[in-house]
Amino acid sequence: MAAAALAHPLQASSASHRSQFDVIVVGAGIIGSCTAHAAASRGARVLLLERFDFLHHLGSSHGESRIIRDAYSKPRYLPMVRLARRLWSDVEAESGYRVYTPAPHLSFGPRGDATLLAAVENAGAVEVDDLSKRWGGAFRLPDGSLAAVSEHGGGVLNASKAMAMFQALAVKNGAVVRDNSEVVAVEKAPEGGGGVAVKTSGGEVFRGAKCVVTVGAWASKLLRSVAGVEIPIQPLQTLTLYWRIKPGREESLTAKAGFPTFSSTGEPPVYGIPSLEIPGLIKISCDGGPPCDPDSRDWAAGDREVTERVARWIEVAMKDHVEAAGGPVIRQACMSCMTPDSDFVIDFLGGEFGEDVVVGVGFSGHGFKMAPAVGKFLAEMAIDGKSSTAAEAGVCVWGWGVGWRYTSAYGT
Ligand SMILES: Cc1cc2nc3c(=O)[nH]c(=O)nc-3n(C[C@H](O)[C@H](O)[C@H](O)COP(=O)(O)OP(=O)(O)OC[C@H]3O[C@@H](n4cnc5c(N)ncnc54)[C@H](O)[C@@H]3O)c2cc1C
Repeated sequence: MAAAALAHPLQASSASHRSQFDVIVVGAGIIGSCTAHAAASRGARVLLLERFDFLHHLGSSHGESRIIRDAYSKPRYLPMVRLARRLWSDVEAESGYRVYTPAPHLSFGPRGDATLLAAVENAGAVEVDDLSKRWGGAFRLPDGSLAAVSEHGGGVLNASKAMAMFQALAVKNGAVVRDNSEVVAVEKAPEGGGGVAVKTSGGEVFRGAKCVVTVGAWASKLLRSVAGVEIPIQPLQTLTLYWRIKPGREESLTAKAGFPTFSSTGEPPVYGIPSLEIPGLIKISCDGGPPCDPDSRDWAAGDREVTERVARWIEVAMKDHVEAAGGPVIRQACMSCMTPDSDFVIDFLGGEFGEDVVVGVGFSGHGFKMAPAVGKFLAEMAIDGKSSTAAEAGVCVWGWGVGWRYTSAYGT
């Protein structure tokens, strides 16, 4: 965090007398920060523009922790998560930061649930025969549940720290980074010959050979105003909850003691992260939430309903280990940016922009773990017109697109 913050004033001054870039990245959440790092590491002249303060709490990437896991029901995500895991290690080595803590992952839900079965199979997870004998009997799932554990490859990522790490590394590799710089227009460069002009609300204009749009929950609004493209990304107000661990159980629910991250495909769709960032507390929350407008949020929307659903689940499934009666100790609001099929959007914008504008949005509540991989894909698409890293890893980027799924002004 400190490194990115320190780097900023120096870099800001150089941006004012440098207005021509190879790649301009709009939006400095985890996806934009990874993209800026990946492009700068290639030697490109990179500008990263963020509307609010760096590491703000108004988007999707802030907070202490995110889960990384192999348990995906859609096989197309497996090569991406494996590549991402390797890249997380590489960047830890490059920076000296530690942002990844290994942990097993426990998947559970109704036995026979097709999504759960596919996720378990794809992850190579093994059914837990007697859950009462694992993790001190912390979980008591309803009859008819299936629980399976993946022992390797999962873990916890420090979210805000990871964003700071990528921003600091981007700067170290020569990127110019600017916060409090809202992009209001992306236009074709007026002089022709390709490239874009990126305009901020402060009246600045930056020229870029290419632009990558990674604006999270603001994607629909920005792409509609920039290009008339309709991408149906629905921001949801989601809630992160921390609960008190019952006295004497604190140690057994830690990542250090081998407690797993966990997620349910049943009702409610709870997920949890072992006690790590705040001693004595455990993060247990629930996917989903009410739709929201990122520019006029009701910060309490859905709060009570989610809290009650999670508390009821804890009372059934973890009641000897976690205190639900007094409610959560900490609540943090976040946003998930949902596409209709929960798949990411990674594509060229097309139309009059052709391949000059690349889009990486709609990460649908599961994009954090993939960010180093996605950032590399987006950077290569901007610089080379295609992602060789994706091809080598067996990730087919085509089919994650703007054009094939959504109706746009261009009729693609
Ligand atoms: C509660 C919660 C739990 C989650 N848990 C997990 C998990 O366990 N594992 C996992 O893999 N994923 C998880 N996710 C999903 C993951 O966090 C997101 O997919 C990821 O953070 C999305 O990042 P982003 O960069 O696309 O969006 P954001 O972080 O929102 O970044 C977009 C940025 O663009 C900026 N911006 C917007 N408009 C403009 C503009 N006009 N000009 C300049 N800048 C602009 C915004 O201010 C913002 O900083 C979770 C999400 C939530 C909310």
